[in-house]
Formats: sequence, C-alpha cells, structure tokens
Amino acid sequence: MEDDYFHSVTLDASLCKGCTVCIKGCPTEAIRVQKGRAWIIPERCIDCGECIRTCPSGAKKAISDPLSLLVHFDYTVAIPAPTLYGQFRSTISCNRILTALKTLGFDDVYEVAAAAEILSQETRDYLGRDQGKGALISSSCPVVVRLVETRFPSLLDQLIPMISPMELSARIVREREKDRPGSVGVFFISPCAAKVTDVKNPRGISLSSVDGVIGIKDIYKELSLAVAQVEVEENLNIASALGISWARTDGEGSAVYSENHISVDGIDHVIDVLENLENGHIRDVDFVEMMSCPGGCVGGPLAVENPYVARNIVCTRERRHQEGNCTVPAELPHLPEGIDLFWTEALESRATHLLDHDYKTAMKMMEEMEVIRGSLPGLDCGACGAPSCLALAEDIVRGKTTEIDCVFKLREKIRDLTREMIALDSHMPPGLDR
Ligand code: SF4
Ligand code: SF4
Repeated sequence: MEDDYFHSVTLDASLCKGCTVCIKGCPTEAIRVQKGRAWIIPERCIDCGECIRTCPSGAKKAISDPLSLLVHFDYTVAIPAPTLYGQFRSTISCNRILTALKTLGFDDVYEVAAAAEILSQETRDYLGRDQGKGALISSSCPVVVRLVETRFPSLLDQLIPMISPMELSARIVREREKDRPGSVGVFFISPCAAKVTDVKNPRGISLSSVDGVIGIKDIYKELSLAVAQVEVEENLNIASALGISWARTDGEGSAVYSENHISVDGIDHVIDVLENLENGHIRDVDFVEMMSCPGGCVGGPLAVENPYVARNIVCTRERRHQEGNCTVPAELPHLPEGIDLFWTEALESRATHLLDHDYKTAMKMMEEMEVIRGSLPGLDCGACGAPSCLALAEDIVRGKTTEIDCVFKLREKIRDLTREMIALDSHMPPGLDR
C-alpha cells in the first residue's frame, strides 16, 4: 500500500534505545519496537510529529529541505508561515523579520498569512452556500486530511475541498513571476513536518507549486542573527491580524466568522472530535477548525519557541495590527485571475485499520483477534513492542508476529515445555523400562 509515499517523520536508528515510549504516544498506533529498535508502519503514519515530541533520545526527526537548495534556482521566493512571527519577540516588527529572511538568500518574500486571508473569505462564501453535508471540516492541516483518509473515510465528504494557504501562496508567486526568465523556486518556511510530506504527496491536487519546505528550526539561528543586523526594514508585510491569527488555534475559525464553529487542537482532541462527528454526536456546528498540533501551528514540531509563548506573541501582534485598524483588511490581498482555489482530485479512502477488503475474511480475522486478545493478559505493558494487547493481537492475525512476543505467553510456553521435558525425561522406552 502506497509504497512510494514519502514521510517526513523518520527514525534515526543509531539514537533509538528501544525504550518503547513512542509506541504509547503514537495516535495511530503506527510504531512498533522490535529487536531493540523502533520502526514506523508507513501506511499508518500521518506525520503528526507526536513521536518527535515524546522520544526522550531525540531519535525521531522530521526531514525537511536545506537552504542550500536555493542555488538550483535563478530566482527564489520565501513563503513564511504565520507561525514565523511567533518565534521572535513581539516588539520585533513583521517587516524586520521578513527583511532578515530575504537576506538568507531569497530574492523576495510573500506571506502565507496573506493567502490565508483570501482563503478565509472563500471559506465564508463556501459555508454560505448550503452544502447539506453537516459540519464542514477545515482541510488546512495536512495531518487532519491524512487522518480522515486513513481512519475516518466516512467524513471525506465533509472536508472543505480547498487548497492550503501554503499552496495558494506558491500559486500566487508563480503567477506573479510567470514572465520572469529562468527558474523560480518557491520555499515554504515551515513549523510543520507534515507540510514536507504534503508537498511531496499532495492531496486533492496532482502537483504542489512549492519547491521545498525549510524548517523554521533549521534556519532560526541564522535568521536571528540577520534580524539583529537589519538596518533598513523593507515594507514587505501585507497581511493583517486576520491572516496572522491562522498561526494559533481558533485563528482560522474566527477569521471565517462562522458563529457556529468549534476549534480543536492537539491530535488526541482531533481524534475525539472526529469520532463524535462520525457518530453524529456533534450537531449545530457549521465549521470545524482542526489543528493537529497543541495550540495550532505554533506547536508545530519544526517551530522553536514554546507554543504558549509563541501564541502570546502572535496574539500581541494581532492586537497591534488591530490598533492600526487591520483586523479586517480594507482590501483583501490581490488574487491574480485564473488561480484555482479548490481541489481538482477527489480524495479516496485509504483506511489502514481494515483487516481485509473482503468482508467475510475481515470478520473471521476480527473474531480470531478477539480470541487472541482474550488470551493475552490485558496489561497493555508494551513489552512486546506493540502499544497494547489489542494491537499485538491485530499484528498476530495479520501474520506479522506470533503470540510469544508477549512475555507472559512466552513464560507460559517455557513452563509448558519444561513440564513436557520433565515428563519426557522420566519416560523410558518399554523395552528398557524395568
Ligand atoms: S521513544 Fe521510540 S524512537 Fe525514541 S528511543 Fe524510545 S523506542 Fe526509540
Ligand atoms: S497544526 Fe499546523 S504545524 Fe501542526 S500539523 Fe497541522 S498544519 Fe502542521
């Protein structure tokens, strides 16, 4: 299944101590520990970065693109996530940060926050048209989109089929620079590991307009020095408080101005709300903003600042912009004609928890799984390298392991064998038995 699917989140096996901490924290049970090392089940991984946050040995990491990639293009444009503004004291202006970013080797910058404003307006319009699908779910967080595809495919119809602010920014830049001779490289400056995956395996579109995703943490040191050295700030900040607020939880929800919206952050809460939506337990809600990271993108695994501090900085910047009457931009950032804001490809179910595509076989396997689970101690200790006894039972019916991975089952087996050996030892062939 999806053998060529690229994952940003990976394991550095040389650092892994096999401690099993990550298997418990993975929201999709995508990690196992075997032979003293963790490994990730690719089709289950949603690149949420939870294991990066929880691994005490720093063995999980997100692969992103290096700044050196810029040399392959004649003209380069940085498209920074609104979260970048949360990484520097609020007294440092957005213009100063953007000017410093340019000095790292970019020819221009375009704020993703500006594209977020355009998409806020589009989402408002989309919600205004009676879709008749129940609560509509934001598709701006790629982890949520992947989670719906793999675990909640019945909710695929409720995802708003709109491209992300990152993708729209890249399309705007490409349109603006379309007559420029030579190659144009567009680079997202990202707090998000899943965006790296999203650019390589886009959902809803066939090809991303982004050429590379550079982690904020990878350029932070250099950027901080550059921020301190800016002499003349360029006037590069076009986004208002509305777009900047997308960095934190409830930013998108409020920007869409839906009275009946809820904002959910943190992967466990996201899963809980998706379960409730699937079961029809959430009513009278038009719009659900969902962010996999705690606090929203400010909590992304490639960000540097503490998410609570970053959120506070973002809110302070929003207030400042509001004082300058920028809460609602008098005019939305310019959207060049001909840019499609919607997905062009339908999303399909990629359910990974199905035991088999044949219903009868799946039911039989489910029964076997229940029997095996009943025979396991139910301690969910993780010593087998699976996150729970149920997960081990599933691995066994899938033919990936055997029940003696369970230490209790292994002891039982050793006891049985010992009894058998003692019985055999005292047994004499009839001809010798006097
Ligand atoms: S948390 Fe997972 S990846 Fe990190 S050392 Fe423990 S087993 Fe290895
Ligand atoms: S909340 Fe933001 S940073 Fe975190 S996974 Fe979603 S889009 Fe990426």
